Amino acid sequence: MERKEQLYEGKAKKVFATDNPDYCIVSYKDDATAFNGKKKGTIVGKGVVNNRMSNYMFKMLEENGINTHFVEEINERDAIVKKVDIVPLEVIVRNRAAGSFSKKYGVPEGSDLASPILEFDYKCDPLDDPLVNNYHILALGLATQEEIDKISEMTLKINQLMIEFFKQCNVELVDFKLEFGRFHGEIVLADEISPDTCRFWDLDTHEKLDKDRFRRDMGGVEEAYAEMMKRIGLAE
Ligand code: UDP
Repeated sequence: MERKEQLYEGKAKKVFATDNPDYCIVSYKDDATAFNGKKKGTIVGKGVVNNRMSNYMFKMLEENGINTHFVEEINERDAIVKKVDIVPLEVIVRNRAAGSFSKKYGVPEGSDLASPILEFDYKCDPLDDPLVNNYHILALGLATQEEIDKISEMTLKINQLMIEFFKQCNVELVDFKLEFGRFHGEIVLADEISPDTCRFWDLDTHEKLDKDRFRRDMGGVEEAYAEMMKRIGLAE
Protein backbone atom coordinates (compact mmCIF):
# COMPACT_ATOMS: atom_id res chain seq x y z
CA MET A 1 0.00 0.00 0.00
CA GLU A 2 1.36 3.40 -0.98
CA ARG A 3 1.75 6.15 1.64
CA LYS A 4 0.39 9.47 0.37
CA GLU A 5 -0.09 12.95 1.85
CA GLN A 6 -0.22 13.65 5.59
CA LEU A 7 -3.85 14.12 6.66
CA TYR A 8 -3.29 15.08 10.28
CA GLU A 9 -0.66 15.44 12.96
CA GLY A 10 -1.77 14.93 16.54
CA LYS A 11 0.14 14.99 19.82
CA ALA A 12 1.42 11.42 19.57
CA LYS A 13 0.67 10.28 16.01
CA LYS A 14 0.70 11.33 12.38
CA VAL A 15 -1.91 10.07 9.95
CA PHE A 16 -1.28 9.62 6.21
CA ALA A 17 -3.59 8.90 3.29
CA THR A 18 -3.05 5.77 1.18
CA ASP A 19 -4.07 4.80 -2.35
CA ASN A 20 -7.12 3.08 -0.81
CA PRO A 21 -9.74 5.66 0.34
CA ASP A 22 -10.91 3.25 3.08
CA TYR A 23 -7.48 2.97 4.70
CA CYS A 24 -4.90 5.29 6.24
CA ILE A 25 -1.50 4.85 7.86
CA VAL A 26 -0.82 5.89 11.45
CA SER A 27 2.74 6.67 12.43
CA TYR A 28 3.50 6.73 16.17
CA LYS A 29 5.88 9.44 17.46
CA ASP A 30 8.06 9.61 20.57
CA ASP A 31 6.51 12.99 21.48
CA ALA A 32 4.76 12.99 24.84
CA THR A 33 2.31 15.54 26.20
CA ALA A 34 0.31 15.70 29.40
CA PHE A 35 -2.24 18.00 31.02
CA ASN A 36 -3.85 18.77 27.68
CA GLY A 37 -0.55 19.70 26.02
CA LYS A 38 0.73 21.99 28.78
CA LYS A 39 3.60 19.58 29.55
CA LYS A 40 5.73 18.44 26.61
CA GLY A 41 8.61 16.01 26.25
CA THR A 42 10.02 12.98 24.51
CA ILE A 43 9.87 9.37 25.61
CA VAL A 44 12.55 7.59 23.56
CA GLY A 45 11.14 4.48 21.90
CA LYS A 46 7.53 5.23 22.92
CA GLY A 47 6.29 5.24 19.32
CA VAL A 48 7.52 1.70 18.80
CA VAL A 49 6.00 0.46 22.07
CA ASN A 50 2.63 2.12 21.45
CA ASN A 51 2.38 0.92 17.85
CA ARG A 52 3.30 -2.68 18.63
CA MET A 53 1.28 -2.90 21.83
CA SER A 54 -1.83 -1.29 20.28
CA ASN A 55 -1.71 -3.61 17.29
CA TYR A 56 -1.31 -6.61 19.58
CA MET A 57 -4.27 -5.52 21.73
CA PHE A 58 -6.49 -4.81 18.72
CA LYS A 59 -5.73 -8.30 17.37
CA MET A 60 -6.54 -9.87 20.74
CA LEU A 61 -9.84 -7.95 20.91
CA GLU A 62 -10.75 -8.85 17.29
CA GLU A 63 -10.22 -12.52 18.16
CA ASN A 64 -12.74 -11.99 20.94
CA GLY A 65 -15.43 -10.46 18.75
CA ILE A 66 -14.65 -6.72 19.02
CA ASN A 67 -14.57 -4.79 15.72
CA THR A 68 -11.54 -2.49 15.55
CA HIS A 69 -9.92 -0.16 13.01
CA PHE A 70 -6.77 -2.30 12.86
CA VAL A 71 -5.73 -3.73 9.47
CA GLU A 72 -2.00 -4.50 9.44
CA GLU A 73 1.32 -3.59 11.06
CA ILE A 74 3.74 -2.24 8.43
CA ASN A 75 6.84 -1.72 10.55
CA GLU A 76 7.74 -0.95 14.15
CA ARG A 77 6.19 2.55 14.12
CA ASP A 78 3.49 2.37 11.42
CA ALA A 79 0.23 0.52 10.94
CA ILE A 80 -2.55 0.46 8.36
CA VAL A 81 -5.94 1.22 9.90
CA LYS A 82 -9.45 1.76 8.58
CA LYS A 83 -10.17 5.42 7.87
CA VAL A 84 -12.91 6.16 10.39
CA ASP A 85 -14.86 9.23 11.37
CA ILE A 86 -13.93 9.60 15.07
CA VAL A 87 -16.82 9.93 17.54
CA PRO A 88 -15.74 13.02 19.56
CA LEU A 89 -15.82 11.21 22.91
CA GLU A 90 -13.07 9.96 25.19
CA VAL A 91 -14.54 6.83 26.72
CA ILE A 92 -12.91 6.20 30.09
CA VAL A 93 -13.21 3.11 32.27
CA ARG A 94 -12.07 3.18 35.89
CA ASN A 95 -11.53 -0.04 37.83
CA ARG A 96 -9.71 1.67 40.70
CA ALA A 97 -9.55 5.32 41.81
CA ALA A 98 -6.68 7.32 40.29
CA GLY A 99 -5.74 10.55 38.51
CA SER A 100 -8.40 13.17 37.85
CA PHE A 101 -11.12 10.97 39.42
CA SER A 102 -9.30 10.88 42.77
CA LYS A 103 -8.83 14.64 42.68
CA LYS A 104 -12.35 15.52 41.58
CA TYR A 105 -14.24 13.19 43.92
CA GLY A 106 -11.82 13.28 46.86
CA VAL A 107 -11.08 9.55 46.78
CA PRO A 108 -7.46 8.62 47.60
CA GLU A 109 -5.56 7.14 44.66
CA GLY A 110 -5.58 3.36 44.80
CA SER A 111 -8.96 3.09 46.57
CA ASP A 112 -11.22 0.21 45.54
CA LEU A 113 -14.39 1.05 43.63
CA ALA A 114 -17.57 -0.93 44.33
CA SER A 115 -18.09 -1.30 40.56
CA PRO A 116 -16.34 -0.10 37.40
CA ILE A 117 -17.08 3.45 36.24
CA LEU A 118 -17.87 4.28 32.60
CA GLU A 119 -17.23 7.93 31.85
CA PHE A 120 -17.54 10.06 28.71
CA ASP A 121 -15.53 13.22 28.05
CA TYR A 122 -16.26 15.48 25.09
CA LYS A 123 -13.07 15.42 22.97
CA CYS A 124 -12.36 19.13 22.68
CA ASP A 125 -8.91 20.52 23.57
CA PRO A 126 -9.95 24.22 23.87
CA LEU A 127 -12.53 23.16 26.50
CA ASP A 128 -10.17 20.72 28.29
CA ASP A 129 -12.33 17.67 27.42
CA PRO A 130 -15.32 18.33 29.73
CA LEU A 131 -17.21 15.41 31.31
CA VAL A 132 -20.54 14.78 29.55
CA ASN A 133 -23.49 12.50 30.30
CA ASN A 134 -25.97 10.75 27.98
CA TYR A 135 -28.17 13.88 27.78
CA HIS A 136 -25.22 16.15 26.88
CA ILE A 137 -24.10 13.73 24.17
CA LEU A 138 -27.57 13.66 22.55
CA ALA A 139 -28.21 17.41 22.97
CA LEU A 140 -24.85 18.32 21.47
CA GLY A 141 -25.31 15.78 18.65
CA LEU A 142 -22.01 14.03 19.47
CA ALA A 143 -23.51 10.54 18.98
CA THR A 144 -26.92 8.86 18.69
CA GLN A 145 -28.49 6.82 21.50
CA GLU A 146 -27.89 3.69 19.44
CA GLU A 147 -24.20 4.60 19.14
CA ILE A 148 -23.90 5.37 22.89
CA ASP A 149 -25.45 1.97 23.68
CA LYS A 150 -23.13 0.16 21.26
CA ILE A 151 -20.05 2.00 22.56
CA SER A 152 -21.00 1.28 26.20
CA GLU A 153 -21.60 -2.42 25.51
CA MET A 154 -18.32 -2.77 23.58
CA THR A 155 -16.37 -0.85 26.24
CA LEU A 156 -17.56 -3.02 29.13
CA LYS A 157 -16.69 -6.17 27.15
CA ILE A 158 -13.25 -4.69 26.26
CA ASN A 159 -12.72 -3.93 29.96
CA GLN A 160 -13.36 -7.56 30.92
CA LEU A 161 -11.04 -8.86 28.17
CA MET A 162 -8.28 -6.39 29.04
CA ILE A 163 -8.49 -6.97 32.82
CA GLU A 164 -8.03 -10.72 32.22
CA PHE A 165 -5.27 -10.22 29.65
CA PHE A 166 -3.19 -7.90 31.83
CA LYS A 167 -3.73 -10.03 34.96
CA GLN A 168 -1.81 -12.77 33.13
CA CYS A 169 1.04 -10.25 32.72
CA ASN A 170 0.98 -9.56 36.48
CA VAL A 171 -0.44 -6.12 35.75
CA GLU A 172 -3.56 -4.46 37.15
CA LEU A 173 -5.59 -2.40 34.68
CA VAL A 174 -6.43 0.61 36.87
CA ASP A 175 -8.13 2.77 34.22
CA PHE A 176 -7.96 3.51 30.49
CA LYS A 177 -9.34 5.62 27.67
CA LEU A 178 -10.83 4.41 24.39
CA GLU A 179 -11.96 6.16 21.23
CA PHE A 180 -14.43 4.84 18.69
CA GLY A 181 -15.01 5.61 15.02
CA ARG A 182 -17.69 5.15 12.40
CA PHE A 183 -16.72 2.97 9.42
CA HIS A 184 -19.39 2.47 6.75
CA GLY A 185 -22.10 2.99 9.36
CA GLU A 186 -20.60 0.64 11.93
CA ILE A 187 -18.99 1.52 15.28
CA VAL A 188 -15.40 0.25 15.56
CA LEU A 189 -12.73 0.65 18.24
CA ALA A 190 -10.07 3.14 17.04
CA ASP A 191 -7.11 5.21 18.33
CA GLU A 192 -4.65 3.25 20.53
CA ILE A 193 -4.28 1.08 23.63
CA SER A 194 -0.91 1.77 25.23
CA PRO A 195 0.84 3.01 28.38
CA ASP A 196 -0.13 6.52 27.14
CA THR A 197 -3.83 5.72 27.44
CA CYS A 198 -3.98 3.17 30.26
CA ARG A 199 -2.87 3.11 33.89
CA PHE A 200 -0.95 -0.10 34.52
CA TRP A 201 0.19 -1.05 38.03
CA ASP A 202 2.30 -4.05 38.94
CA LEU A 203 -0.14 -6.50 40.56
CA ASP A 204 2.09 -7.10 43.61
CA THR A 205 4.16 -3.94 44.14
CA HIS A 206 1.67 -1.42 42.60
CA GLU A 207 4.64 0.12 40.76
CA LYS A 208 3.39 2.41 37.97
CA LEU A 209 4.19 1.14 34.46
CA ASP A 210 2.60 3.90 32.37
CA LYS A 211 2.59 7.57 31.41
CA ASP A 212 2.03 8.72 35.01
CA ARG A 213 5.82 8.37 35.38
CA PHE A 214 6.14 11.16 32.78
CA ARG A 215 3.17 13.24 34.05
CA ARG A 216 4.54 13.18 37.60
CA ASP A 217 8.30 13.39 36.83
CA MET A 218 8.92 10.06 38.54
CA GLY A 219 11.82 8.96 36.29
CA GLY A 220 12.14 5.50 34.78
CA VAL A 221 9.69 6.41 32.02
CA GLU A 222 11.39 4.59 29.11
CA GLU A 223 12.07 1.63 31.42
CA ALA A 224 8.37 1.37 32.32
CA TYR A 225 7.30 1.32 28.65
CA ALA A 226 9.97 -1.32 27.92
CA GLU A 227 8.82 -3.37 30.93
CA MET A 228 5.23 -3.40 29.60
CA MET A 229 6.52 -4.74 26.27
CA LYS A 230 8.24 -7.56 28.16
CA ARG A 231 5.18 -8.30 30.27
CA ILE A 232 2.99 -8.79 27.21
CA GLY A 233 5.64 -10.92 25.55
CA LEU A 234 6.70 -8.51 22.80
CA ALA A 235 10.32 -8.16 23.97
CA GLU A 236 13.02 -10.28 25.63
N1 UDP B 1 -6.51 9.41 29.38
C1 UDP B 1 -6.03 9.53 28.09
N2 UDP B 1 -6.13 10.73 27.45
C2 UDP B 1 -6.69 11.83 28.02
C3 UDP B 1 -7.19 11.71 29.33
C4 UDP B 1 -7.08 10.49 29.98
O1 UDP B 1 -5.53 8.57 27.53
O2 UDP B 1 -6.76 12.89 27.37
C5 UDP B 1 -6.40 8.13 30.09
C6 UDP B 1 -5.34 8.18 31.19
O3 UDP B 1 -4.11 7.67 30.73
C7 UDP B 1 -5.92 7.26 32.24
C8 UDP B 1 -7.43 7.37 32.05
O4 UDP B 1 -7.63 7.87 30.74
O5 UDP B 1 -5.53 5.92 31.99
C9 UDP B 1 -8.11 8.26 33.06
O6 UDP B 1 -7.46 9.51 33.08
P1 UDP B 1 -7.89 10.68 34.07
O7 UDP B 1 -9.26 11.12 33.73
O8 UDP B 1 -7.63 10.24 35.46
O9 UDP B 1 -7.01 11.89 33.66
P2 UDP B 1 -5.48 12.22 33.92
O10 UDP B 1 -5.23 12.00 35.38
O11 UDP B 1 -4.73 11.30 33.02
O12 UDP B 1 -5.39 13.64 33.50
